[in-house]
Amino acid sequence: MFLQWGNGQDDVRAGEMGWDYCPRCEDETPTSLLVRYHFGYVYFVFSCITRFEYFLKCDICGYASAIDAAVAKPHVERLDIPFMRRYGCLMGLGLMVLGFTCLILITRK
Ligand SMILES: [Zn+2]
Repeated sequence: MFLQWGNGQDDVRAGEMGWDYCPRCEDETPTSLLVRYHFGYVYFVFSCITRFEYFLKCDICGYASAIDAAVAKPHVERLDIPFMRRYGCLMGLGLMVLGFTCLILITRK
């Protein structure tokens, strides 16, 4: 049986962070909270989040600097992470349990 797995990362905008100094723009600019999530997957569908990173991103030039999770988490308004990317591994586990249960019921005499 061929087993395919891997990992990846994606960024989502999680909210506004007000105005802050941007070293690239050299001025006060509006900023956003950017959340980078890393995920692992099996067969590209059954995935789960492995870790988060938080960045303060300038809305003008896109410059992003890492910030501490304890500072960022209270500002997270929403995380638009696809359902199967976040909970896909649980769905895969559920399908395996369902499959084994059906197999046991079918082969039972
Ligand atoms: Zn900037």
